[in-house]
Amino acid sequence: MTFKELGLSEALLKAVADQGYETPSPIQEKAIPKILQGQDVLASAQTGTGKTAGFAMPMIQLLAKEPPRQRRPIRALVLTPTRELASQVLEDVQNYSKYVDLRSTVIFGGVKQNPQVDQLKRGIDILVACPGRLMDLESQGFVDLRQIEFLVLDEADRMLDMGFLRDIKRIIAMMPLKRQNLLFSATFSSDIRKLANGLLTNPVTVEATPENTTADRVDQIVYKVDQARKTELITKLIWDGNWHQVLVFTRTKHGANRLVQKLEKAKITAAAIHGNKSQAARTKALANFKKGEVSVLVATDIAARGLDIPLLPYVINFELPNVPEDYVHRIGRTGRAGAAGIAISLVSVEELEYVRGIEKLLGMPLVQEIIEGFEPTKGPVEGGKKRMHGKGGNTSGGREIRNNNTTNRNNGNTNRNVRQKSRSKGGDNRN
Ligand code: AMP
Repeated sequence: MTFKELGLSEALLKAVADQGYETPSPIQEKAIPKILQGQDVLASAQTGTGKTAGFAMPMIQLLAKEPPRQRRPIRALVLTPTRELASQVLEDVQNYSKYVDLRSTVIFGGVKQNPQVDQLKRGIDILVACPGRLMDLESQGFVDLRQIEFLVLDEADRMLDMGFLRDIKRIIAMMPLKRQNLLFSATFSSDIRKLANGLLTNPVTVEATPENTTADRVDQIVYKVDQARKTELITKLIWDGNWHQVLVFTRTKHGANRLVQKLEKAKITAAAIHGNKSQAARTKALANFKKGEVSVLVATDIAARGLDIPLLPYVINFELPNVPEDYVHRIGRTGRAGAAGIAISLVSVEELEYVRGIEKLLGMPLVQEIIEGFEPTKGPVEGGKKRMHGKGGNTSGGREIRNNNTTNRNNGNTNRNVRQKSRSKGGDNRN
């Protein structure tokens, strides 16, 4: 399937070519023709599937069919849970609308409102926004949603987790009833289904990855280790492997700060990104990480939501999330855009119940291993076949994941085999 066959116009095809995309991703293949036909869409897709282009490109094409109206009323609204995601969506929207006459901007809290108000006053066709600041600017009379034709809820599950349901409902009430609605969510709780039922009219359902599964390019592994020794182990893994571009998740903001300090002490460049950091600090940390000036970004779940870091090779869960869906979101940061990734979880005995919850959600067991010298001192170590890695030698702190790490773990099998095994539901992929 080509982008042209999906029905995209020349202006969009040119923008796609500029981005270097060769073929549509599965979510794009399914969603683009339906959106172009004017249908509402309920999509199950996590970050990394190409979902943004999946909704933005057809929406831009439909909006561009009409010449710009006088004073440019807002015709499309994309709601996102976090500032980072909002910025990234805007960047994508601007890339795809390069060759059409549409204006777009983004509004979110934590920064001065005046520049955002100035943008709005100039007239904006596509507005990307986080619910809080949008409500704020609407109440001050700077945002008028009465001419909205498109509403996109991006990462709707996360917006509900963050308590935005009431705001979303109020925002919807400000719009005309006749409009096209697109709802994207990585997971489908009953709350999301309820929201979708109230919002969408005869929606087409599209799925990028089968529901509640993790990206199949990601090798997932659990290292069992005492909580008190996690810092030591993570330092060893990063040092031995000479890993760069590592995204580490902690459960708390304090935990993130503490870990950054300890990594810095061990001469590993690191930065934290979490809700207590100012927007400027978060943007700077992410930029430095992308440039390679910082090897390790330590994030909490909310802050990391929607981060667009192409080709991220490593995700490490320093602590497991207590909500299994967050695990799926976290490891959605790796194995993107055709590249392989590895997701490592450092799991103490206290966290083993979370492993079970995650395995249940994924419908498959996770590989559980123990690194020699880091054997847990307490609790059960069964629940996964034990594998011991020797010191020095080729522990999975070894390097280039594609060459020796996974090969090592899989006794010579290729990465592909690992992934296929991981996917067979209920199959034992623990070697
Ligand atoms: P998203 O899931 O929207 O966060 O997109 C993930 C990444 O994939 C972004 O960096 C996009 O630029 C990229 N991307 C989107 N569509 C394609 C495509 N068809 N081919 C290659 N990369 C793509």
